[in-house]
Amino acid sequence: MIELDALTKKFGGTVAVDGLSFTVKPGQVTGFLGPNGAGKSTTMRIIVGLDRPTSGSATVNGRPFASHRAPLREVGVLLDASAVHKGRSGYAHLLALARTHGLPVSRVEEVLAMVGLQDVARRRAGRYSLGMAQRLGIAAALLGDPSVVLLDEPINGLDPDGVLWVRTLLRGLASEGRTVLVSSHLMSEMAVTADHLLIIGRGRLLADTGLDELIARV
Ligand code: ADP
Ligand code: ADP
Repeated sequence: MIELDALTKKFGGTVAVDGLSFTVKPGQVTGFLGPNGAGKSTTMRIIVGLDRPTSGSATVNGRPFASHRAPLREVGVLLDASAVHKGRSGYAHLLALARTHGLPVSRVEEVLAMVGLQDVARRRAGRYSLGMAQRLGIAAALLGDPSVVLLDEPINGLDPDGVLWVRTLLRGLASEGRTVLVSSHLMSEMAVTADHLLIIGRGRLLADTGLDELIARV
């Protein structure tokens, strides 16, 4: 579960997030939908403690992210697939993350299999295609077997097979009872992936609705 209460973030004169309040429930895929610049990434960065709110609050499983003792076991996040160290192999990247966070090394092979990267895991990440980099980022997000998963634009740059794969993965994570928040600027994709939609524009919440209710309204 993720809960936001009047979350606001200003960068100088720019109000990136403007009084967002919502709850993201477990057991379903929640789509975080809005155009580029709407404030989706900023909101996700604050949820995982990479940025501080100007005012308001965000909690994960009832507590601020920073107060969790094993953050990677609570929340897995894909923010920017290109942030992976280019000189390291995918395997080395995940191994370093596992060691830093005290996770069993056996998890590395498990998540590599989950995302289908076993065959290229020893190759330098700098030589990965965008789709492979996205899969590696998703593997990192799942490493701690987290109950809450946040993925920022996971299908950007993926081919149709990759898009379908992400959709199936998200459905599976939700059916296991996890809290899944996925951002996108594509309504068409969210309409087939998400159970629930949080639609934002200019940092403000425009709709907090089940997909069925939304379709019934239009
Ligand atoms: P989205 O993820 O929906 O595309 P962002 O959260 O990236 O939106 O951006 C929301 C707004 O905040 C944009 O106007 C963006 O330019 C601004 N912004 C985001 N990060 C920063 C930053 N570090 N410094 C200044 N402005 C920022
Ligand atoms: P570095 O590569 O600089 O050693 P890390 O990759 O360990 O840094 O990440 C820095 C912080 O970001 C960590 O404290 C960790 O909690 C968080 N973090 C990194 N990757 C993830 C992820 N996939 N899911 C959740 N949190 C992450």
